[in-house]
Amino acid sequence: MQSSSTATASPKNVIVCGAGVIGVCTAYFLAQKGAHVTVVEKSAPACAASGKAGGFLALDWCDSGPLSALARRSFHLHGHLADLLSGPTAYGFRPLEALSLTVREADAPKRGPNLPAWVDGSATFAASIGTTQTTAQLHPYLFTRKILDTAVEKYGVTVVKGEVKEVRLSEGNVASGVVVDDGEVLLGDCVVLAMGPWSAKSPVISELCRISGVKVHSIVLRPQVPEAIGPQALFLNYETAEGVSMDPEVYPRPTGDVYICGPSEEVEVPDDPQQILPCKESIITLQKVAQTVSSHLGSAELKAEQACFLPTSEDGIPLIGKIPDMVGVYVATGHGCWGILNAPATGESLAELIIDGKAKNVELKPFDPARFTKASKKISDC
Ligand SMILES: Cc1cc2nc3c(=O)[nH]c(=O)nc-3n(C[C@H](O)[C@H](O)[C@H](O)COP(=O)(O)OP(=O)(O)OC[C@H]3O[C@@H](n4cnc5c(N)ncnc54)[C@H](O)[C@@H]3O)c2cc1C
Repeated sequence: MQSSSTATASPKNVIVCGAGVIGVCTAYFLAQKGAHVTVVEKSAPACAASGKAGGFLALDWCDSGPLSALARRSFHLHGHLADLLSGPTAYGFRPLEALSLTVREADAPKRGPNLPAWVDGSATFAASIGTTQTTAQLHPYLFTRKILDTAVEKYGVTVVKGEVKEVRLSEGNVASGVVVDDGEVLLGDCVVLAMGPWSAKSPVISELCRISGVKVHSIVLRPQVPEAIGPQALFLNYETAEGVSMDPEVYPRPTGDVYICGPSEEVEVPDDPQQILPCKESIITLQKVAQTVSSHLGSAELKAEQACFLPTSEDGIPLIGKIPDMVGVYVATGHGCWGILNAPATGESLAELIIDGKAKNVELKPFDPARFTKASKKISDC
């Protein structure tokens, strides 16, 4: 049975560009509200950051800034989606604790107080920074695929493989579709640009705001005794033997794998997501982190070495909303290091804005792309 909002909403023919977690969640909520949705992806769904992220979620870690309401709503939606989509095993959703630790490679291994048994290296407990009420995790690749599969199977979303080259506008700057690959036109009365760091390549976005990408490395390990690893995410204040400081993160997954991310670099985003290759030095650094934190991780099999880009806007705040001076063209990008957390509320809010004219659960004003127009910039400079 249709909900009342579905029954009264005017149907839209929406083209969502990009099948990362943001595009996929937007497609899911739009289709749930009755829109006819086509997702266009140039490589493969979740091939970039959305498949290679940590998948850590926090209720209140964004509370001090404009992301607070978005993050809180999203944390709630993640719990709801995990219940709905065939239980937690579908994509490794589970609440877990988060600990802040200080680690110095120069220190001898010791079993410090308040540390989980598997953290038997050179770590010192600093603080408990998340409980099973406030922090959780999921596998980002499996989550993104599950949302997309559900959108296709339950709500009739269509997925097209192709590279969006251009947004088609008719008279009055009204969206009429997108141009894909070598000129094929996909018709639609609404276009959502959700291409992560590649959003910057669309003139519609680049003329408004610079979206940059920071390349971050990660590894996935398979410990010899996976059951020995407990459900604690570790946030490290880490010093190498050479005195270099960094902040790697360690996420044990319910499957028994352990994900570790850390070293980053500012480099150009390659055109093809499949060409994002890790640098060996960063991978070796992450293996050293693993070995310093836990003997279980030091002896683990290296299952994956990878890198991906964080999409970041000029002011560090996502762009979620309508492109100024155009009708039916929207953007959702720039989610930085919290895109997996904030994807459901981004998708829900954008779907409400597009179909109902206003987001119900989250005030989208802080994310309005119009803040980057010349007129808005002048006012904020005064
Ligand atoms: C190492 C690392 C760890 C992270 N850990 C976490 C975490 O623990 N928790 C958290 O909340 N967030 C985390 N993040 C952040 C999160 O991964 C990102 O914010 C999020 O994945 C961005 O999703 P997206 O859909 O905007 O972009 P992407 O995942 O980059 O997807 C963009 C998609 O658009 C496609 N595309 C590009 N150009 C075109 C085109 N012209 N036509 C069609 N398709 C196109 C691409 O192929 C790609 O599939 C992490 C990020 C990194 C790098």
